[in-house]
Amino acid sequence: MTTKRSGSSFNSMSSKRKLESVFLFTTGKCNAKCAMCFYAGDMEQKAPELSFDEIKKLSESAGDFNRLWLSGGEPTLREELPEIIEMFHRNNHIKDVNFPSNGIKGELIIEWLKRLRKNCPDLNIAISISLDGFGATHDTQRGVPSFYRAVETLKLINDNFKDDGKVIKNIATVITKYNVEEVRDFVAWTYGRLNVTTHTIEAARGVTRENGVKVLNEKSLRLIQDDVAPYYLLYAKRIGEGMSGIARSLTKFFYVGLMRAMYDIRAQNLDKPTPWGMDCTAGETTLVLDYDGRFRACELRDPIGNVKDYNCNIQDIMNSDAMKKEIEAIGHGYKANCWCTHGCWIMSSITFNPLKMIGKLFKSNSETKKLNVPVHVDEQTLRNLEAKYHLDTDKLAEIGLIQGEKTAGVA
Ligand code: SF4
Ligand code: SF4
Repeated sequence: MTTKRSGSSFNSMSSKRKLESVFLFTTGKCNAKCAMCFYAGDMEQKAPELSFDEIKKLSESAGDFNRLWLSGGEPTLREELPEIIEMFHRNNHIKDVNFPSNGIKGELIIEWLKRLRKNCPDLNIAISISLDGFGATHDTQRGVPSFYRAVETLKLINDNFKDDGKVIKNIATVITKYNVEEVRDFVAWTYGRLNVTTHTIEAARGVTRENGVKVLNEKSLRLIQDDVAPYYLLYAKRIGEGMSGIARSLTKFFYVGLMRAMYDIRAQNLDKPTPWGMDCTAGETTLVLDYDGRFRACELRDPIGNVKDYNCNIQDIMNSDAMKKEIEAIGHGYKANCWCTHGCWIMSSITFNPLKMIGKLFKSNSETKKLNVPVHVDEQTLRNLEAKYHLDTDKLAEIGLIQGEKTAGVA
């Protein structure tokens, strides 16, 4: 079985617009109650979920596309999830699946990842575990005590897929009033203690469950992003380990460039909508399927129909008058009518605007280099952070992250 990351659709840039990414909200259920959840209102509707057969029809009618982005609700609460991913791999030849989770059901995630690695050996799987801060901060923001569960899940993923390049291990942190003061320390701790492939941070977006959790503005977000920039060079180095010289340099260039470019666009759009410097290709290259069958061009715009009215046929949906009108309403280039901070669409749009973005990638690399300072994430620093944020070291030892006075780590 190949364990080398290859054939990822993120490596290829193309100006030909066609369906590239399907965002599937697999369930309307969740076992957390996050303060910054932008989907809480939709989940409260408790509408019936799309059935497996309806999702099958959607898959069978879609043709080939590259990326399946899972969403929800909590994806691990959809029992048929592995079958659904395997079906899209078989019918649509997807190259990448993005699998976000709050990490509460760790054993199930491992079971499903093993199954997917066996049944879809060429599929790149990005498993993204939400971790918002140290211990109590994470638990307060997530509304349920889940910090040690999520950390244990990351440890299990690392133990099982440490050298498997087809399993990308990501931590996703959403910045709110709860964790804003500790996010810099948290990025350092996760880098040093958890052997993940990358760590993304973003400001809370959309209409949140709890009012008043969004505390960042462009200036304060940029300060955080600049302060953590050195970690992206370290992550680039980690990703490139074992690669040959040219592959390593290219991977570093694209990873550092894309991360910084995405962060720059996000910051620009935090206070007010600001053109991205490229078209947003929502609706042309992306389709969002809500758990109850409503569909949209992107997660932040309103639903424009229900797949059931199109006999669950994705080609008909993409060619529908509703989608054409929506693309027109979004607009193009600097005349577009809406701009946002949504990383998934920024990344997706970048791959379809290669000429406009190549200069930005060079600029982003050079900016990140200038922000680089030596970071020291040695054992004593990690221990100090664990003491400062009152982490339960017995629990960390039980999980296997640290051993008594001497840390085993996961690297
Ligand atoms: S943000 Fe995700 S994990 Fe949190 S409540 Fe919403 S759907 Fe659940
Ligand atoms: S800019 Fe943002 S809100 Fe507007 S269509 Fe694109 S992804 Fe959606």
